[in-house]
Amino acid sequence: MRIPIREVTPQLERATIAGWVHEERDLGGLAFFLIRDRTGIMQVTVPKKKVPEDVLIAIKEVSRESVVRVSGIIKATEKAPGGRELVPESFEILAKAASPLPLDVAEKVPAEIDTRLDARFLDVRRPRIAAIFSIRSRMMEATNSFLFREGFLQITTPKVVAAATEGGTELFPIAYFEKEAFLSQSPQLYKQMMMAAGCEKVFEIGPIFRAEEHNTIRHLNEATSIDVEVSFADHTDVMVLLEKLIHEIYSSVAENCTAELELLGIPDLQVPEKTLPRLPYEEAILIAAKKSEEPIAYGDDLGTASERAIGEEMGTHYFITEWPTSIRPYYAMPSAADPSICNAFDLMHPKMELSSGAQRCHVYDLLVEQIRSKGLSPEGFEFYLKPFQYGMPPHAGWGLGAERLVMTMCNLQNIREAVLFPRDRHRVTP
Ligand code: ATP
Ligand code: MG
Ligand code: MG
Ligand code: MG
Repeated sequence: MRIPIREVTPQLERATIAGWVHEERDLGGLAFFLIRDRTGIMQVTVPKKKVPEDVLIAIKEVSRESVVRVSGIIKATEKAPGGRELVPESFEILAKAASPLPLDVAEKVPAEIDTRLDARFLDVRRPRIAAIFSIRSRMMEATNSFLFREGFLQITTPKVVAAATEGGTELFPIAYFEKEAFLSQSPQLYKQMMMAAGCEKVFEIGPIFRAEEHNTIRHLNEATSIDVEVSFADHTDVMVLLEKLIHEIYSSVAENCTAELELLGIPDLQVPEKTLPRLPYEEAILIAAKKSEEPIAYGDDLGTASERAIGEEMGTHYFITEWPTSIRPYYAMPSAADPSICNAFDLMHPKMELSSGAQRCHVYDLLVEQIRSKGLSPEGFEFYLKPFQYGMPPHAGWGLGAERLVMTMCNLQNIREAVLFPRDRHRVTP
C-alpha cells in the first residue's frame, strides 16, 4: 500500500509512495525526481549503478506529470525537502503524461488565467492552486457546521424558475418545453416562502445564475450563494448572525489551513473582529465623493471605485446600513421612522461587496405596492405573494457570495480563481 507523502518521515525504513512526477533532473550517474501527491512533495534519488535494471528503464521512459508508484529505502538527508529521500527498488509508471504539457505545473513558466483555466486539471495540480480549494472546502465546512449549530434547516430550492427575483435584466432564459423559464438568480423568493411554511431558520448553499453584462474580476455568470432566512428577526439580528459566521469561517481557516495559507503568501491571516462597524449609507456616500474620482450622489448604488475608496477608509470588513428604499429591491422593509430609507444592509470587504441582506417586507399590501413602485407587475409574482396572505411572520435574511469570500480571503486578483470551472461570457468549457 502506498502512504501519503506527508507521512513519510526520515525514521521510516522503507515506503511506497504514489503521485505525479513534479520535476526530474539527470546528473549522469545520479538522477533526482520530485514526486508530488496531494499531501506533499518528496525526493526520489536514483544512484544508477545501485538500482535494479527495470528502475533504469522506467526512469528513462518517464516524463514530467506522469503518474508513478515508487517503493524503496528511506534515507534521512538534510538536502532534500522534508529531510528525507527515497532510493527506489521499484519504479512503476502507472500513466504516462504526454509532452509538452499544456501548462507547467512546477510554475517555472508563468501562465495567463485563460491558459490556466483551459488546462484547469493541470492548474489544480499546483500546490498553491490546490490550497485555494482546500481553503474553500474548509470555509464551506465551517459554514455548514455553524448554521447547523445555530439550529438552521438546510433547504434546496429550484434553479429552473418562472420569474425574475429582481426584474428582468441579468436573466438567462432557457428552453423549457412550451413554458417560459429562466435559470434562478437567487433563492430569495423561495426562502421567504419557507418562512410562511413555518421553517423559521433556513439556509441554502447553491448556484445562482446571472447574465452579467460586463466582464469584471468580481462577477461570474454562475456563482455560489450562501443564503439564510430567519423568522421573527429583523436586519440587526441577521447582521449579528453574519458577522459571527464571518468570524467563525476566518477562525476555522486560520486554525486548520496553516500550510495552505503559507503557500498563498498569507501566513498571518487577519481574522475580522466579532463585531464589525456599521456605516450609514449617507456617510458612505460622503466618503466616496470625497475620496474617489467616480461621481456619486445620494441615491446611487456604489461603483467599484466608491467601494474601494470607502473600504480604504474603513480598513476592515464593515456594514453599510440605512440604504435609500429607491435603490433596494421591493422585498426590503422600509424603515418605520422614515420610509425613504429601508432596513437593508451590505456586508463589505475593504475591496468589494460580500453580502446583501435586509429585514423583508412581510405585509401583503405594502409588498404589492412596492412591487408596483419598481415598475413590476404583481401578477408575475402570484406564487410568491400568496403566502403573504395566509400568515407570514416577520423575517430577515441575507445572501453571501462564496466566491467573493474565497477571493477576498485568499487575496486573489480575479474571482475566476476562486471557482474550479468558472462561467463567464466567453467560457462554457471546460
Ligand atoms: P454587485 O453589486 O457586486 O453586482 P449584487 O448587489 O448585484 O452584487 P446581490 O444580488 O446582493 O449582488 O447578491 C448577494 C451576493 O452574491 C453579493 O453580495 C455577492 O457576494 C454575490 N454575487 C452577486 N452577483 C454575483 C456574481 N455575478 N458573481 C459572483 N458573486 C455574485
Ligand atoms: Mg450585481
Ligand atoms: Mg451590489
Ligand atoms: Mg447586493
